[in-house]
Amino acid sequence: MENNKGTICVQGGWKPTKGEPRVLPIYQSTTFKYDTSEQMGRLFDLEDSGYFYTRLQNPTNDAVASKICELEGGAAAMLTSSGQAANFYAVFNICEAGDHFICSSNVYGGTFNLFGVTMKKMGIDVTFVDPDISPEDLEKEFRPNTKCVFGESISNPSLVVFDFEKFSKAAHAHGVPLIVDNTFPTPINCRPFEYGVDIVTHSTTKYMDGHAMAVGGAIVDSGNFDWKAHADKFPGMTEPDDSYHGIVYAEKFGKAGYITKATAQVMRDLGSIPAPMNSFLLNVGLETLHLRMPKHCENALKVAKWLKNNDKVAWVNYPGLEGDKYYDLAQKYMPNGTCGVLTFGIKGGREASIKFMDNLKFVAIVTHVADARSCVLHPASHTHRQMTDEQLIEAGVQPDLIRFSVGIEDAEDIIADLEQALNA
Ligand SMILES: *Cc1c(COP(=O)(O)O)cnc(C)c1O
Repeated sequence: MENNKGTICVQGGWKPTKGEPRVLPIYQSTTFKYDTSEQMGRLFDLEDSGYFYTRLQNPTNDAVASKICELEGGAAAMLTSSGQAANFYAVFNICEAGDHFICSSNVYGGTFNLFGVTMKKMGIDVTFVDPDISPEDLEKEFRPNTKCVFGESISNPSLVVFDFEKFSKAAHAHGVPLIVDNTFPTPINCRPFEYGVDIVTHSTTKYMDGHAMAVGGAIVDSGNFDWKAHADKFPGMTEPDDSYHGIVYAEKFGKAGYITKATAQVMRDLGSIPAPMNSFLLNVGLETLHLRMPKHCENALKVAKWLKNNDKVAWVNYPGLEGDKYYDLAQKYMPNGTCGVLTFGIKGGREASIKFMDNLKFVAIVTHVADARSCVLHPASHTHRQMTDEQLIEAGVQPDLIRFSVGIEDAEDIIADLEQALNA
């Protein structure tokens, strides 16, 4: 029996048997006991599955990874200590010095910097492409050493809806997987695997946690990409790993090969594992994800419509709003809703935006999005504050852009707070 998403949110992952705790326990233990040296040895050879050290695997972390895996409809998943670590591991697991990959230019700023600056220093080259690029122009960006394509299902903060089918067609024609950061819609609103995406990542810090309690990330593999059919491009998946007694990941672990490699090599060596306590908190958040997402979307649509009709407001972007540039793509890939984040500008530019934000009462100014509590950020004054108006426009951030993360309070109260701040 395959459960629906709401049931998975509540019941997925931890499945206790007779006499075990009903609630997912926090296995606050770095290590796990064995009776014989032989038993432990087999674990190190990846001959048996089992726990030995929390940097590699921990039962609390695994239960939560398994819930997220079920929600995405994947074959295998792992948690990381942050969304940044998830995106780095997802790409680094199949790219090394001398390789190249393609990424949508409209991605989270931290991802843009990780790929364009830090990974470049490691000898991994990236080409950023306009997400609205034509298939013909996209074709021209592939090189013989291109190893994957990366995008965000709804980009933070530009709110571009990623055309999964256009990018997956191009990636697969070149024998490489498509990786998508699905943080904003979450699997409640969008399951990228249904549209040809091979690997999904998350910053669980956002809606999945939903309460701003724990930074975290996840990687989910669909198990659909055929590594062995493109063995020349992915020797790490298809040739023996000397650091694990000659194991061939794509052969020995089948659909779990990619995640096993990311755990056994990348996590073993880099160690960005979440604390079991944080995974417990994430799990509590996940138990209500299917209730919160529709409410975020309902409230965001009400706020977007209200802003659109306000004469102090210059413009509004929300892919769930009819007439938005990405409305049609959103209807195609996430017909039940997009996310709770919208952006808008108010007449009077940077100065007016600052004054407006200072006048908000319960809508808080914080460096966070996708939280139960409504919050707001002005990139020109915060994340991008060193830039002039001209530089901001060049970077695709209008000086008046306000990122508004609509929470799950009552919509009329959120709108009342906006109204009094706009009128003040
Ligand atoms: C926040 C965010 C990240 C980074 O995640 P952290 O958990 O902050 O490391 C990556 N992608 C998107 C879309 C995000 O919003």
